[in-house]
Amino acid sequence: MSAIGSLIFCTDCGNLLRESTGDENAILHCTVCGARNKDIIPQTIVSESKPSAFPSALRSKRSAVQTLSAEDRKTEAVTNHLCGKCGRTEMFFTTVQLRSADEGSTVFYRCVCGYKETSNN
Ligand SMILES: [Zn+2]
Ligand SMILES: [Zn+2]
Repeated sequence: MSAIGSLIFCTDCGNLLRESTGDENAILHCTVCGARNKDIIPQTIVSESKPSAFPSALRSKRSAVQTLSAEDRKTEAVTNHLCGKCGRTEMFFTTVQLRSADEGSTVFYRCVCGYKETSNN
């Protein structure tokens, strides 16, 4: 297999170094902290990067090196809810059940414009 195209990060400061050359003997110098990093990438994730993992334009706007937050992993649905910022009448929403049923659930609304709203039932 080839590691070419994978991103390498500085092990000291986390700075993005560059794409892997695929040569495990290469040494990549960090331009931020000067650390020398071996050109070895973690052998993960690659097989998971199906196109369907990035279905929306919203996600494609995110940095490719940014991992998805927990919020992004939740299943979102669209509901009729007025965005307080741009006036759209459809927003994504996610419901989170709190620890006990007595406390009800929290609904997180998210608009494509970036506006977010939280509502406690
Ligand atoms: Zn560094
Ligand atoms: Zn909006």
